[in-house]
Amino acid sequence: MSHIEEAARRRTFAIISHPDAGKTTLTENLLLAGGAIRAAGEVAARGAQRRTRSDWMKIERDRGISVSASVMTFEYRDLVFNLLDTPGHEDFSEDTYRTLTAADCAVMVLDAAKGIEPQTLKLFEVCRLRDIPIVTFINKMDREALEPIELLDEVQDKLQLDTAPLYWPAASGQRFAGMKDLTTGEFCQFDRRPGEAPVIGPAQRIPGSNEALIGKLDDPVHAELVEGVEMVTGLLPKFDPDAFNAGNMTPVVFGSALRHFGVAELLNTLHDFAPAPRDQKAERKDVPVMVHPSDPAVSGFVFKIQANMDPNHRDRVAFLRLCSGEFKRGMRLKSASGKQLNIHNPLMFLAQDREIAETAYAGDVIGVPNHGQLRVGDSLSESGEIQFAGIPNFAPELLRRARVKDPMKAKHLRKALESLAEEGVTQLFKPAIGSDMIVGAVGQLQFEVMTERVAAEYNLEVVFEPAPYNVARWLASEDPQKLEDFLDRNKSASGTDLDGAPVYLAKNAWDVGYAQEKNPAIRFTATRERS
Ligand code: GDP
Repeated sequence: MSHIEEAARRRTFAIISHPDAGKTTLTENLLLAGGAIRAAGEVAARGAQRRTRSDWMKIERDRGISVSASVMTFEYRDLVFNLLDTPGHEDFSEDTYRTLTAADCAVMVLDAAKGIEPQTLKLFEVCRLRDIPIVTFINKMDREALEPIELLDEVQDKLQLDTAPLYWPAASGQRFAGMKDLTTGEFCQFDRRPGEAPVIGPAQRIPGSNEALIGKLDDPVHAELVEGVEMVTGLLPKFDPDAFNAGNMTPVVFGSALRHFGVAELLNTLHDFAPAPRDQKAERKDVPVMVHPSDPAVSGFVFKIQANMDPNHRDRVAFLRLCSGEFKRGMRLKSASGKQLNIHNPLMFLAQDREIAETAYAGDVIGVPNHGQLRVGDSLSESGEIQFAGIPNFAPELLRRARVKDPMKAKHLRKALESLAEEGVTQLFKPAIGSDMIVGAVGQLQFEVMTERVAAEYNLEVVFEPAPYNVARWLASEDPQKLEDFLDRNKSASGTDLDGAPVYLAKNAWDVGYAQEKNPAIRFTATRERS
């Protein structure tokens, strides 16, 4: 197969949801439905194994959240799926945002009893920024649910997204009987055998006529289903693949991830409709270009760095989303900033294992082991001339001063914090005056994770104290002299980030507003796109 045909059969997607909606359960069941793993519980078992290896994962375990994101590749029917796993906890949303920049499609999981929740909305907005098509999975139908039409109305109202149900459920909770395939008219039966392991694979289907269901469904449930189907087919627009690809319409599948119901149907929906790798906006030598998956030269961008995946090595793994060409093991790739890397051991992530990738194509994500040369936002290509746009660095919402208990170890602490900041989840700022280390994060939990990691991986006892600043903004100006003057005048409220870019460190948002008003030639930004 040519690299063009290979790229065309990639489907790279992420799952977005509010914590507890069932993302982990759905992930595991998608892998089961896709044949990537064999028995339920194996993802969890793999997780447990990993956890015993690394101390800092204790937080993950104690709080039941997943901190580290990864990618899982599996083949299903004629396609290769790359499922990007995103951490669910709110404090790690920045990481999630960046992972979404590497996805071509998203599955939005809703809890049928709750509908759109705050985190769903936030993540959806990120998808909308890039017009990523979204497939909706309404989960937990085996529990008492809101009326399905209410759920769809909510999606329509809160997300301004047209809904096109591909299936329609018959009741919910104790009475949940299954769902009708609105395309074929067949009825997918919910297999209710409490206590028994659910059967993996598509649901049993009853051929499509209302009569065929008489006697198989309770009369009131049947009547409700017939009425519901009539209403939605009359009321809602038909599924339109173009509107879906433009990010304006979402197909909807109902199910129960826990009972493996609707999961194969969801996977088939992704198979039939999820888009192949998209063109990506980039710059070549500062000139805007579009990179097509069919372009012969290899290119991609780093959207995530994970350190210490193997505690015996200090190596880190950069996750590179390929955007064009045919990548071959051993290739030399260059970044727009002049870094060069021979990629001898590119990793491919299968559900239960890592393998060396001999080849990879647009849409694939490979792990590039490195010693810290690569950063989130780096673009790699054969020519070294391509820089992809749009991987944001968000201004942290919390700033803390880091101090090590043993003052002799301050230098070690700086190294440790730098190295953690290079992963891109937290930030490290150096004020222009003094030797403070100011760490920024989007949530309190990240400071706890850092404290544990600094202890486990660097053997240092770090304390995070209130900082003299609470807000950080990156600074830029068309006029370099004006920027320099501003920095000179504001030494006590400025500093640099890990890459030496100038930042304004302010007590509060009001200060930022005031400085901005007084210095119209300076731009204060809450995001910096790495170059
Ligand atoms: P996450 O936080 O989104 O990853 O959610 P989890 O997958 O960890 O699920 C949260 C809880 O909901 C767990 O107790 C799951 O067993 C439960 N759960 C997930 N899917 C279903 C479902 O379809 N039906 C029911 N009854 N419970 C579910």
